[in-house]
Amino acid sequence: AIPLVPEQKPDFAKGNGLVSVILQDYNTKQVLMNGFMDQEAYQLTIQENIVWFYSRTKKRLWKKGETSKHYQYVERMSLDCDKDALLIEVTPAGPTCHLGRQSCFEQEFFNLETLFQTVQDKIAHPKEGSYTKYLVEEGIDKILKKCGEEMTETIIAAKNQDTNELVDEASDLLYHLFVLLAYQGVSLEDVKNQLAKRHGKKQVYRVRKEIDKW
Ligand code: AMP
Ligand code: ZN
Ligand code: ZN
Repeated sequence: AIPLVPEQKPDFAKGNGLVSVILQDYNTKQVLMNGFMDQEAYQLTIQENIVWFYSRTKKRLWKKGETSKHYQYVERMSLDCDKDALLIEVTPAGPTCHLGRQSCFEQEFFNLETLFQTVQDKIAHPKEGSYTKYLVEEGIDKILKKCGEEMTETIIAAKNQDTNELVDEASDLLYHLFVLLAYQGVSLEDVKNQLAKRHGKKQVYRVRKEIDKW
């Protein structure tokens, strides 16, 4: 199994007692923020599985989320080659940036994991006029019917050798498949783990089970 905590300790001496810490979203792999840890912050982080920093401005230990409640739950840590930087994959309890954005870095971020998260979020917090809300309210048979239709349309597009249409229909299919999975309580991670197993790879890893998502 992949360890939650690296086998070696960060080299605090090198950075005058501090190491650089990069937070990355465990699910989407988006880079979230950069901070610093001293030995104590590191120990607290390992004990609690929640990220602590040393604030260079406040000159004190700082539990990320202490006021915002946007705690960063540790999923996995790794050190860089010369042990002066720590990468922590986290599940954030809310926006990581204090300006209210998911990431402190100005990056437009989209991948299949973020699409799945969006679908999950739309099911958990339905908004008026949302198509996902409509599908879910119609229920499982409607969702299944749509999945079937989109698969059929994908097949037709492929048969017609219409690349643009194929991309379009495949997008519809993936979206509806994600709605189906989320509706049935299956996570994209479950599917990824299954695929990893088939390819003779280890689990994609999960240390923490369920966290209240925002
Ligand atoms: P929090 O730890 O999220 O409760 O935020 C407490 C305070 O820490 C904020 O008001 C900011 O001053 C600072 N802070 C929080 N998150 C960040 C961040 N990502 N980058 C820089 N400062 C932050
Ligand atoms: Zn380094
Ligand atoms: Zn920020």
